[in-house]
Amino acid sequence: MEEFPKGNLWHASVSEAVVAPPLDGDLDVELAVIGGGFTGCAAALEAARRGASVALLEAREIGHGGSGRNVGLVNAGLWLPPDQILAQMGETEGRRLIEVLGGAPARVFGLIEREGIACEATRNGTLHLAHAASGAEDLASRHRQGNRVGAPVQLLDAAETARRTGSEAFHGALLDPRAGTVQPLAYCRGLARAAQAAGARLHGSTKVTGLSRSGNGWEVRAGGHRVRAGAVLMATNAYHEGFSDPFRPSYVAVHYSQFATAPLPEEMRARILPGGRGLLGYGAGYVLFPHGSGRAHDPRRHGRRRGAGR
Ligand SMILES: Cc1cc2nc3c(=O)[nH]c(=O)nc-3n(C[C@H](O)[C@H](O)[C@H](O)COP(=O)(O)OP(=O)(O)OC[C@H]3O[C@@H](n4cnc5c(N)ncnc54)[C@H](O)[C@@H]3O)c2cc1C
Repeated sequence: MEEFPKGNLWHASVSEAVVAPPLDGDLDVELAVIGGGFTGCAAALEAARRGASVALLEAREIGHGGSGRNVGLVNAGLWLPPDQILAQMGETEGRRLIEVLGGAPARVFGLIEREGIACEATRNGTLHLAHAASGAEDLASRHRQGNRVGAPVQLLDAAETARRTGSEAFHGALLDPRAGTVQPLAYCRGLARAAQAAGARLHGSTKVTGLSRSGNGWEVRAGGHRVRAGAVLMATNAYHEGFSDPFRPSYVAVHYSQFATAPLPEEMRARILPGGRGLLGYGAGYVLFPHGSGRAHDPRRHGRRRGAGR
């Protein structure tokens, strides 16, 4: 798998740093975490804070996978509308999932605040846009369904949407005030740094090449060393490499592209997404938000617009 592309905006603009040297000996821990993305770093942080001995093993660098390359929207739900989730999962489990996802941004922004993570966190809500009349109907239906399950989403008409986006191209929008945006690589590194401060060992450039049961626990093999662990968390996502037994995640490839503009002039910045919100388009499938709208940092980077298409 390719290394981090050097032109990657997140890599170029990250201010969080974490030191994770390669594993250099055998270890005995309660929890071994394989993979240093959001999942692995957040789990290592939580387990270490509860007093467990933890070793996190990352094949490349912290945030190498999806966590250092994504769009940075901190969403409060799935793409699927609530009725579809309830129909597929049943009332009890479906409501539980909706509730957990609805509370996710509060959890993420709470963690950022507690651990002092410098990741340009902006919690002004996100806009879900309709660029066709059919999209507006879809949003109205999502609005009804969302309100019914307790989501505080608001439906905006075309004029209000134009005011908030700086564009008259849209038929309306759904505002989710719970959501927001982060610089994802910085968030991931910040989680890792906090996990380390809580006592977790972090080892980068340490690809796990073998995993097997050993007594009541597990034996993890990486870089010529062995880690004995009471429990293992596999957090390798679709970036999984190195071993396929006893588990290997399966996934479906979806094409996606992301780009960032050059920094925008102040006049344009005041007009386009003045509240610094992220937005998602229904139908065409794209997201956009003003990078650098959170905490001030390098002014040369301030005010870029980033977009992604699916
Ligand atoms: C283009 C794109 C845009 C997205 N946009 C958003 C968004 O706006 N908002 C949102 O919430 N989500 C978004 N996502 C989804 C989000 O990025 C992922 O859900 C999240 O990053 C997954 O985190 P993770 O820790 O599970 O996995 P990853 O971050 O992928 O981490 C897996 C790690 O495992 C490591 N690894 C693999 N094999 C081994 C091994 N053998 N030994 C050791 N380490 C190993 C990899 O190197 C990698 O670092 C997006 C995803 C993509 C691809």
